[in-house]
Amino acid sequence: MAWGVGPGDAVFVPDFTFFSSGEVVCAVGATPVFVDVDERTFNLDSEQLEQAIDFVERETDLVPKAVVTVDLFGLPADYPKIKPICEKYGLFLLEDGAQGFGGSIKGEMACSFGDISTTSFFPAKPLGCYGDGGAVFTDDDEWADLIRSFAAHGKGSMKYDNIRIGMNSRLDAIQAAILKVKFESFVDVELEAVDGAARWYADALALIAQDEGFVLPMIPEGYASSWAQYTIQLPLACNRDALQSRLREKGIPTMVYYPKPMHQQRAFEGDCIAFGDMAITKKLCDRVLSLPFGPYVTHDEAADVADALRESLESL
Ligand SMILES: *Cc1c(COP(=O)(O)O)cnc(C)c1O
Repeated sequence: MAWGVGPGDAVFVPDFTFFSSGEVVCAVGATPVFVDVDERTFNLDSEQLEQAIDFVERETDLVPKAVVTVDLFGLPADYPKIKPICEKYGLFLLEDGAQGFGGSIKGEMACSFGDISTTSFFPAKPLGCYGDGGAVFTDDDEWADLIRSFAAHGKGSMKYDNIRIGMNSRLDAIQAAILKVKFESFVDVELEAVDGAARWYADALALIAQDEGFVLPMIPEGYASSWAQYTIQLPLACNRDALQSRLREKGIPTMVYYPKPMHQQRAFEGDCIAFGDMAITKKLCDRVLSLPFGPYVTHDEAADVADALRESLESL
């Protein structure tokens, strides 16, 4: 809204993400152009992105306007490649850091990569409050003023001077109070703890992954993940539903993030462009499984999950 993105504009969004990364594009009347992701990082594929921009410029009447990158499962997107592409084509970069808050690339923190970045404090995210909440980040004072106005019903000089159509996107004071306390633990304890837990999982799962043919998450050199999820890729032949119910019987909850490519969501039907065949996204939707995870997972729990996974896979 602050950038004036609207009808006739194309906004590029990864096909493998949570719905709202694309929903916001349609909410302002623009057209989401879904683009495939990288098989190892789950994040927007920079080569596919550039091809998709060329395609929209050549083959459609839409005007390329912005790119939404998603820091999926806590891992920052490929900003070293994607930022130059945005500069080359004059596109705004919106970092969807809902899952990425706390991650980094060479010490640069997630939610600082976009021209505007956003995060979510929904309880399932790396830094969760006890209800709904979120934040917007930008270095641009004009955009910041606009966003503050949009978030409070288009307020002008004061609450009852309304100068534009906005919405209610305020952060409740009670949630802010909770976040103030939790943010300290997030910085002092949880980010390091969750990275340690990821190492325990990697150690406990390495051999099983090799034997059973599943793929562990990969963090590229110089990157740090805030580990919103610990997501493995099962072998193609594995019956994921059956595996999930075996694990459930053993008291291990698992989730599928995400079962459906964005371009196949009914809400986008006739209202989006799907660039390419989305081979990777489709494969991921069939194969991913997120294991129970967080900063308070213990070494023993990681070992128990690994044992349960091996037993369940062998019993299928
Ligand atoms: C959770 C999530 C959102 C939306 O967060 P809300 O707080 O529900 O607005 C957006 N993008 C991604 C990738 C998410 O995981």
